[in-house]
Amino acid sequence: MTTIRSFNPPIRTLMGPGPSDVHPRILEAMARPTIGHLDPVFVGMMDEMKSLLHYAFRTRNELTLPVSAPGSAGMETCFVNLVEPGDKVIVCQNGVFGGRMKENVERSGATAIMVKDEWGKPVDPNKVAEALAAHPDAKIVAFVQAETSTGALSDAETITRLAHDQGCLVIVDAVTSLGGSPLEVDAWGIDAIYSGSQKCLSCAPGLSPVSFGPRAVEKIKARKTPCQSWFLDLSLVMNYWGGGTKRAYHHTAPINGLYGLHEALVMLQEEGVEHSWKRHTDMHEALKAGFEALGLSFVVPEGSRLPQLNSVTIPQGVDDAAVRGLLLKRYGLEIGAGLGDLAGKIWRVGLMGHGASAKNVVFCLTALEAVLS
Ligand code: PLP
Repeated sequence: MTTIRSFNPPIRTLMGPGPSDVHPRILEAMARPTIGHLDPVFVGMMDEMKSLLHYAFRTRNELTLPVSAPGSAGMETCFVNLVEPGDKVIVCQNGVFGGRMKENVERSGATAIMVKDEWGKPVDPNKVAEALAAHPDAKIVAFVQAETSTGALSDAETITRLAHDQGCLVIVDAVTSLGGSPLEVDAWGIDAIYSGSQKCLSCAPGLSPVSFGPRAVEKIKARKTPCQSWFLDLSLVMNYWGGGTKRAYHHTAPINGLYGLHEALVMLQEEGVEHSWKRHTDMHEALKAGFEALGLSFVVPEGSRLPQLNSVTIPQGVDDAAVRGLLLKRYGLEIGAGLGDLAGKIWRVGLMGHGASAKNVVFCLTALEAVLS
């Protein structure tokens, strides 16, 4: 067998749909000594983590924690705990991730009522209202606030209000929105929400912050059937994340990953979450001006564009893979390809977390112009 040496990844600039570049402060935090996940010092850090997540999500929800797995596990945590066999769930789909919500509903033994919008458009609240009127027995409305596959931002506040008016709970995907776009869990009354560490928090992938409001907790407590997932069953996870002095082993926490998320959230607090939202918007405006100068047009209509995920149509006659390949080879720059129905048709350029910077905007525009000319 040939001798395999240590893995040394190249230095890249990550301007795709995520992961985004991890800030050096976060990488340094993750390299700190591993201690036991029941060590009192670690437990103190967990309490701080909860306060920091409260700050980022703008909530006081007691049931707020980082799931020890990526955003998809945060998604599953919401569905397997809140959806029971026989439930009816209205699922809004305007891209790839709404489709995954449907899968989650059906695998939970429930029926998904689909509200579909064109990819690239936000979820249409009128269609949600119609679905709610047609299905008064629906229990939950699920939607993606920031659809990473297209770059569309949906109106989470309005959809949540419509759902509540009909007595439904909401499950919100905030994987790409947390830290990058306005998000008010308590003020909007969001019942269940999940995010990811690897987008606008500039943290390494693999953790999924989640938060559950009082009505969601009530529904979980009133379940008639046990949650079908052992690992994601919140009633068990809470033995570890529940707080106080009585934390018990549930699974071995990703200790160094949690140091990283803690540091990422400290950095968000230092900057101020509202400032972070504004910085993402300002950098999007700068990138937009450059894209327009290059003749590139946005997929999403103005007013519904995510500042942190800029999708543009690939110009006629341009080889998608060749351009992305050259950007990577010559400049170490990663931009994203289209997903699902949009594969081969669009590029997705991320301005996420500390990657939402003037330096990255200029670098991306310069490299793209050189490769396209
Ligand atoms: N939801 C959205 C909107 C996403 O963008 C992603 C990942 O890109 C996910 C869910 C799944 O997250 P993960 O890849 O961390 O499992």
